[in-house]
Amino acid sequence: MRPLTVRGQRIGILGAGRSGVACANLVARLGGQAFLSEAKPAREVRSTLASLDPSVQIETAGHTMELLKSQWLVKSPGVPPQLDLLKKARRRRIPIWSELEFASRLVHPRWMISVTGTNGKTTTTALIGWIAQEAGWPTVLAGNIGTPLSGVVDRVHSETVLVLEVSSYQLEDTVRFHPHVAVLLNVTEDHLDHHGTWRAYVQAKARLFQRQTRADVAVFNTHDACCRRLARRCRSRVLWFGDRGPLTTGTFGVWWEGERLWVRSPVRSWAIGPSWSLPGAHNRANAAAAVAALEPLKIEPAAVAAALERFPGLPHRLQVIRRWRGVTFINDSKATNVDSTRVALEALTGPLLLILGGRGKGTPFTSLRPLVRRREGGGQKVKAVFTIGEASRQAAGELRGTTKIIPCGTLTAAVAAAAKQAVSGDIVLLSPACASFDQFQDFEDRGRQFETLVNALPDSPCQVAATSPVPTSASSSSP
Ligand code: ADP
Repeated sequence: MRPLTVRGQRIGILGAGRSGVACANLVARLGGQAFLSEAKPAREVRSTLASLDPSVQIETAGHTMELLKSQWLVKSPGVPPQLDLLKKARRRRIPIWSELEFASRLVHPRWMISVTGTNGKTTTTALIGWIAQEAGWPTVLAGNIGTPLSGVVDRVHSETVLVLEVSSYQLEDTVRFHPHVAVLLNVTEDHLDHHGTWRAYVQAKARLFQRQTRADVAVFNTHDACCRRLARRCRSRVLWFGDRGPLTTGTFGVWWEGERLWVRSPVRSWAIGPSWSLPGAHNRANAAAAVAALEPLKIEPAAVAAALERFPGLPHRLQVIRRWRGVTFINDSKATNVDSTRVALEALTGPLLLILGGRGKGTPFTSLRPLVRRREGGGQKVKAVFTIGEASRQAAGELRGTTKIIPCGTLTAAVAAAAKQAVSGDIVLLSPACASFDQFQDFEDRGRQFETLVNALPDSPCQVAATSPVPTSASSSSP
């Protein structure tokens, strides 16, 4: 592929978020003229703009025709694709790229591994990076996981394993993006507010494989119908993973059989068998996906097992934060859609007091109804739901009749109410099934506030245990 020349070019960047700012600074450093355009007024983005290279030109409070004087446009993920200005740019044939498309043309790593899916991206990206690094590879993580690729271009060299967490938003505006290994974890309903239709969402995900050739690898979830469909259209070598066996698709796969992780190649099968402590089938799926994604690197199975055993887990994802009077408090603030709350309820056996709500995403909460009711060995799994935020009424309506619903409004009130009702052996779980933006900066802010509230609960003598003890799946969860 012809190397991209930035020097002397004018590049318009829409959106002064983290990736927009990193991209503008990269353009400046490579001798180009960056023009950064932001819809919000200057006062709302002042702190972000402070980190810009002085040569970057800026406009705020709206995107103007100035942008159309650029050779390319780089669109930040949050900018709506239907924007009038973008339509004009398309008519003038000005290329519109995502920051991922732009920055990925400037790096040449030994391995570029990209991970997408509705849920599990960050955990799987972190796991792949962790295993590669523990096995001695120089590893760089970038993308949605925190650092935009534009910000780490200098750290990527010819021996690097570059692991990218990629969202459907970023994939929408890719043209030549071409990872050596592309992982699709699952595709369930999310972000339909942005993409408009299910078809558009799936098409965005499919762009991950679009430029791959037979020399590349695609990793798919054997239990996901959408993955199986997309795999048929793939030109690359397909590897499969599953949270359980048997694996009926393909010749190469990684899957769990009880507590053992199995790998199958065309010639033989072998067990890796790590002692894996993250809770839930979803985390087993993520581990299997990570191992499959690393297959081309030929890391010793013993080194993979050792790395899996040492993986510490990630904050805000089923993270045990405190045991208080025999009650376990778990922060799953990253559950920003109904599906991730579903997997949390499946991963924990309860009894649970569930804090749920925030800004809804248009998906009904009704799929949680059987999980709220059911508990292995009988009894109610979720003893009460404490609702917060904009989606409170909708959640209450759609879960009515399954358990006690307690409208709380705020997280502060919900933690207080849950702590008051919990008895030894219970789990108080923040797994909101919603975005956080109605009351918090983001899911991390929500998770941190939950932690602060929980840690502020006063120490005092224990209550008497009234129910069964905390299940092992919860007590062995990530730190
Ligand atoms: P993402 O980066 O895609 O949002 P994370 O790894 O941050 O994914 O996990 C987000 C949430 O999704 C967590 O609350 C977790 O419980 C749930 N989750 C993680 N992995 C999976 C998976 N493989 N399938 C379904 N849900 C998952």
